[in-house]
Amino acid sequence: MPAWESAASATSRAACISDAGGIPAIHVEIENMKRPVYVIVGAGQAGANAAAELRRQGFAGRVLLVGDEAPPPYERPPLSKDVLLRPQETRCAVHPDRFYDDQDIELKLGVAGAVPDAGARTLTLGDGETIAYDKLLIATGARAPRLPLLDALGPNVHTLRTLDDARQLAGELQPGRRIVVVGAGVIGLELASSAVDLGAQVTVIEATPAAMGRCAPPLLGAFLCDVHRGRGVTLRFGAGIASAVREQGEQDEIVLTLEDGTRIAGDAVIYGIGVEPDTALAQAAGLAM
Ligand SMILES: Cc1cc2nc3c(=O)[nH]c(=O)nc-3n(C[C@H](O)[C@H](O)[C@H](O)COP(=O)(O)OP(=O)(O)OC[C@H]3O[C@@H](n4cnc5c(N)ncnc54)[C@H](O)[C@@H]3O)c2cc1C
Repeated sequence: MPAWESAASATSRAACISDAGGIPAIHVEIENMKRPVYVIVGAGQAGANAAAELRRQGFAGRVLLVGDEAPPPYERPPLSKDVLLRPQETRCAVHPDRFYDDQDIELKLGVAGAVPDAGARTLTLGDGETIAYDKLLIATGARAPRLPLLDALGPNVHTLRTLDDARQLAGELQPGRRIVVVGAGVIGLELASSAVDLGAQVTVIEATPAAMGRCAPPLLGAFLCDVHRGRGVTLRFGAGIASAVREQGEQDEIVLTLEDGTRIAGDAVIYGIGVEPDTALAQAAGLAM
């Protein structure tokens, strides 16, 4: 019998004693002492669905879902598409708002799981709270790698990983704005497509010779490039960024100089150069990477 089942039956025994004896405070204390605690760190699609699955499989203990982003768990695929194109009509929540209350899943949002102690089975959060757990699931997903050369330029430089990123981007993708997309992978090309739909002038630059080289056969990459060119997107392949500066002449603009000497000016730069696994918490917990 799994530990949580025996603990759950102890909990219901405690509930019976309390109901019969009518001492609610003791009931709550016994219940909390006996209920196994399952902490999930990372309130993304994986974390939110893992929490739901625990309940679906009958886990009766406490489930805490800890996420460092403020919004309730949401799906990222719409961020490069409908969230930009139809923000008012688009919902990307993993579960409906009431789901977490209905399923007795506690959400702790806007706070990071910072220091795990696997020996003591505790997790200290970024706000200083320490939670004792029976099981800890690390579902911290991935993050967008940063390009310091571009980040150093300050405003009008973006990546796209979070809902917050998408909301900031929406302000850039306006008719006539010159948008430079760095990276012709899936997200770069999706962003280029959305930006064109919104009336922007788009240039995509890619250091390798082809689009979507990591995830699609050359034929498909070439086909998608043709579609983009047909919609007015300029694509440049085979030269990485040699330098990036902000120029404040007649207009404030960002100028990228490529390794082949080509100069590309834009009002905003969005880079989508892949993802890297977010293993910080797993490493801190001593898991082998
Ligand atoms: C713009 C965009 C479009 C996409 N489109 C598609 C698509 O069309 N099809 C497809 O299959 N996939 C797509 N993906 C990829 C897909 O969204 C990911 O595979 C998916 O989000 C992975 O879910 P996850 O829960 O494992 O990780 P994540 O979504 O990365 O979630 C992990 C969460 O954990 C949080 N976290 C990290 N560390 C901590 C910590 N210490 N404490 C608390 N919280 C922490 C992170 O902030 C994040 O909220 C897209 C991604 C993006 C960004």
